[in-house]
Amino acid sequence: MRDAEFFRNWMAAAAAAVEREADRLTELDSPIGDADHGSNMRRGFTAVLAALEAEPPATPGAVLQLAGRTLISTVGGASGPLYGMLLRRTGKSLGEAQEVSDADVGAALAVGVDAVSQLGGASAGDKTMLDALLPGVTALKTSYRSAATAAEEGAVATTPLRARKGRASYLGDRSIGHQDPGATSAALLLAALADTAEQAGGER
Ligand code: ADP
Ligand code: MG
Repeated sequence: MRDAEFFRNWMAAAAAAVEREADRLTELDSPIGDADHGSNMRRGFTAVLAALEAEPPATPGAVLQLAGRTLISTVGGASGPLYGMLLRRTGKSLGEAQEVSDADVGAALAVGVDAVSQLGGASAGDKTMLDALLPGVTALKTSYRSAATAAEEGAVATTPLRARKGRASYLGDRSIGHQDPGATSAALLLAALADTAEQAGGER
């Protein structure tokens, strides 16, 4: 079972990955965006860590809901509300339990990813974060590491796609040939989750 500390560790691992990869995320956002994805994610996750440290929530659901609210209030770009929605809905779906199973985490993340699709109106193949999140969540049924791998493959597979949502869609065919920054950061978040699960050991 996974407790609040597991989810705080996930957010800390995500923040570290974002910090490490911020320049790359911004580089990916240069040709098909406005070169701010790395700084958006860094600002958001720095604030998430500060919020979780200031008043550590006692349940898994509360950790993710606080993280989500913090992203929404600190990130101006499209990715803030979308990732905020992902974490808030996932957290809400986990309810008030002190501990949750890996199956609960998988089911809750599926709800969160669905909410991202509803909010942004994007689906598979639109060259967005969903192209990493959707295969990632499907592969979660196997393991956290499979989810991370599937998300990374999904991110790489956005390169030949034409963007149909978000800023990159304004470029039409000129968006082809570039990996989507949001799909890339989504893969980082799922890799951080897999690392956290491997560190914690336990269920799988
Ligand atoms: P902005 O586009 O406002 O500058 P960011 O650069 O932080 O915001 O994030 C861009 C990423 O957000 C894109 O690479 C894409 O993955 C994701 N994105 C944009 N619009 C949508 C949408 N409607 N649905 C899902 N993801 C989206
Ligand atoms: Mg941008």
